[in-house]
Amino acid sequence: MRAQVLHLPGEPLQEASLPDPEPGPGQLRVRVEACAVCRTDLHIVDGELPDPKLPLVPGHQIVGVVDEVGEGAEVEPGSRVGVPWLGWTDGECRFCQSGRENLCDNARFTGFHVDGGYAEAAIADARFCFPIPDGYTPVHAAPLLCAGLIGYRALRLAGDATRLGLYGFGSSAHLIAQVARWQGRRVFAFTREGDTEGQELARSLGAEWAGASGEQPPEPLDAAIIFAPVGALVPVALRALEKGGVVVCAGIHMTDIPTFPYELLWEERVLRSVANLTREDGKEFLELAPQVPVETHVERFPLAEANEALLRLRAGKITGSAVLEVAG
Ligand SMILES: [Zn+2]
Ligand SMILES: [Zn+2]
Repeated sequence: MRAQVLHLPGEPLQEASLPDPEPGPGQLRVRVEACAVCRTDLHIVDGELPDPKLPLVPGHQIVGVVDEVGEGAEVEPGSRVGVPWLGWTDGECRFCQSGRENLCDNARFTGFHVDGGYAEAAIADARFCFPIPDGYTPVHAAPLLCAGLIGYRALRLAGDATRLGLYGFGSSAHLIAQVARWQGRRVFAFTREGDTEGQELARSLGAEWAGASGEQPPEPLDAAIIFAPVGALVPVALRALEKGGVVVCAGIHMTDIPTFPYELLWEERVLRSVANLTREDGKEFLELAPQVPVETHVERFPLAEANEALLRLRAGKITGSAVLEVAG
């Protein structure tokens, strides 16, 4: 199979021809049709997350067709599945035992601890795969698998906020804005300064206001979700909050948060992060997505141009989600 491989963080991916992987017990092999590019992939490639498997095939928003099923895996060959970031948990630790498998002590993540979807085939644990909702092509379904469902978890943790700010209007925010509107919330979108395309996309998806992240929204926010990996946005978002509001940091990595006066947190404002996903999050979001319906706006790249997709994401030049179109 053709694959894009990370040999050393900080270096570009290299194209390789690898033997087809074989599924073990409980696993399945997926013929990858599409794999969306996540900012987390960029953090892994850039060496901002510790101890990736090396060499590594990145990619954790995989859509493909099952072509080989390992012993005991309960999935039909030929079915289309999605493979998310959460690749395996021990099922035994105090977090798994309390409905918080997203925090599992021994979790393994796709495209980080195990090879992912920047390749023509990938191996996945059948218990952690999702069925793909009807009405989505592989390319359009792929961003639902992380941008969508971890974004959805962040939205849930924002509580019942009416006025919702989204900082960083990229892959996740453009999906979650649609869910938030559908839930009857009001959406305020913050982009990099001068990102008129991102702001236009935000307005077209129902945001009633879109501006640069340094601007104050026209009204205080009841909650803000920060998708951009920029710690300086934390005090900025806190400053935009109503009393009792919450700021949710949705990324796996952020630059350092600058110091800020306590008055920004005072009056019961809350600052929290969101980590990974549970299978329950995935199930709930993938059932919800076609009801909204959540539409994914994608920029397609062939597998061989994975580095180009990452470069454009790093430069803030992707509108919506970048997706590697691997087959089909
Ligand atoms: Zn991701
Ligand atoms: Zn666990």
